[in-house]
Amino acid sequence: MHDIPHPLFSGIVCRMCAEQDPHPLLDFGPQPIAHRILESPAAPEERFPLSVHICPACGLVQNLQPIDPAILYRQYNYCFSSWKPQPHAAEEVVLLKEHLGGGAIFEVGCNDGMFLEKLHQAGFAPVVGVEPNPVAGETARAKGFTVYSSILTEAVCRDAVHRHGRFKAVVIREVLEHIEDLHHAFLLMESMLDEDGVLLIEVPDIGMAMPHGDCSVLWEEHVNFFTRPVLRRLLGMRGFAPIIWRHYDLFSGGVMMVLADRGVLAEEENSAGPTLEQGLAYANQVHQYAERLSWTLRRWREAGGSVVMYGVGARACTVVNALELGRYIDLSVDDQIERQGKFMPGSRLPIHDPRALTILTSPLLVLLAVNSENETRVKERIAALRKDAETLSLCSPTDIRGELASLTTRLESVLQEADATRGEWSAVAARAARHPLSRLRFPHFLADTSAKRIKSA
Ligand SMILES: [Zn+2]
Repeated sequence: MHDIPHPLFSGIVCRMCAEQDPHPLLDFGPQPIAHRILESPAAPEERFPLSVHICPACGLVQNLQPIDPAILYRQYNYCFSSWKPQPHAAEEVVLLKEHLGGGAIFEVGCNDGMFLEKLHQAGFAPVVGVEPNPVAGETARAKGFTVYSSILTEAVCRDAVHRHGRFKAVVIREVLEHIEDLHHAFLLMESMLDEDGVLLIEVPDIGMAMPHGDCSVLWEEHVNFFTRPVLRRLLGMRGFAPIIWRHYDLFSGGVMMVLADRGVLAEEENSAGPTLEQGLAYANQVHQYAERLSWTLRRWREAGGSVVMYGVGARACTVVNALELGRYIDLSVDDQIERQGKFMPGSRLPIHDPRALTILTSPLLVLLAVNSENETRVKERIAALRKDAETLSLCSPTDIRGELASLTTRLESVLQEADATRGEWSAVAARAARHPLSRLRFPHFLADTSAKRIKSA
């Protein structure tokens, strides 16, 4: 992480309330694109600055140097809506159904059409979407939906209203956090919305991650990091008032959903989001966590243990690269077969099938960078493969600092045990190298750790 200079007047303004000079919070320096998994360990890779500021006036945490969307979204990104379990999507459709009965719905960033399909099944018609990712958009069109292959533009809105009339609802799920010009996006959505129509907005809730000092939520595709008070304030600025809020402990550290219609916020609802003080406390927690985690991983490996990353999604890549953990990790594993055989962005860790855990014979620490709804299942999977493996979650809402503190305590006993058996390491490494599967799949890992262990023996 980079040191942040004291803020001077920079001419930059908050993208939500236009207050001058949002305060710098965290600067991770040049980072790779977290979703851009590499085909080979030597594949060229672009890096872009990753830093976040907080606006002391409205509380919006924001990335003020976002990557040009034309660069960010030009490639297949190994992430589709249908890959993520979305148990809450059904409830969102029910809320719309209860509120509207039926009618036309437009979805901004409909991805592979998962939500359009649910709306269609609930009797909404027509359901129309816009999606810039060509692969995801094509998947949605293949399901029979009208989907514009574009970002949301005036031309798209005009055409959609021309063809279908104004919509009873505009849905924008997991998109608003990507959009730099928030007010323009609202203008466009408002232009498509019926006078008594509703907005359904779903965004990650950073209010969950901040108290944990969790930086895995700060990935470069998100340029706005909302809390409920900040989103409420934005709605108020656009002439909307929330009808229903929901919070779900799902991906990205927790998401919130709000259904809003045109109306005026009550005065007491117009409170500010996280204060500057809370923002700075968060940044401080992230620094402390990074230091403690690096120390623990280094000690684990000095003791002859192996470290594996489970899950290579955006949160995993962000935390590994932002906290510079790649040097302490032997390899990564991921359940998604499309990612296996490839390499993590930045750290270039090889990505294997989770069964790779059975080949490792040294004490094993598995770093969990999976979303909370998957954590129990993944832990069971790890236990079935390596009963003695330690696990450590890197993503809130799990208590990541508490888990780290307890692991650090237990590490002392592991170190003592490792000292007692240290003489056996070279034999273990030689045995593993003779394993036929390991020669095919772990050249990097074996070369690296055999040398290290023999040296330390
Ligand atoms: Zn602001």
